[in-house]
Amino acid sequence: MQQSCSNFVDMGVIRKTKSVQILLDIFAKNEEAISVVQLVEFLKEQMNKTTVYRILERLENDGIVHSFMDKDGIKWYATCKSGCTSSHHSDIHPHFQCQECGKVDCLSVEMKIPEVPNRTINFSQILLIGKCEECR
Ligand SMILES: [Zn+2]
Ligand SMILES: [Zn+2]
Repeated sequence: MQQSCSNFVDMGVIRKTKSVQILLDIFAKNEEAISVVQLVEFLKEQMNKTTVYRILERLENDGIVHSFMDKDGIKWYATCKSGCTSSHHSDIHPHFQCQECGKVDCLSVEMKIPEVPNRTINFSQILLIGKCEECR
């Protein structure tokens, strides 16, 4: 987790409430991505759905986590590597979803976003679907 430490130190405008800390701890411990569905289910005793959504939005705005959609349109969150800020996420990497076990993770390969004439590209997401190292 060495690489993402800076994100946790520089908390920006986030007020460190107990709920925020619980979510930060979950992301600090997980290398893999976590879906909103999993988080809401996991935290249902501790906070309501709206709180989970609100905190995730704040963490993303602060450059601590990034999000993407899976093949079913469910939102997933993963810890950002260093280099993300509140105004600019530099997480331009594909995500991988395993068809067998459902695991989703960030692939650390560089992606080059093509320059398209007369278009401004603000966001991109590439989801690669297949079998993970354990399911192959
Ligand atoms: Zn798998
Ligand atoms: Zn990612």
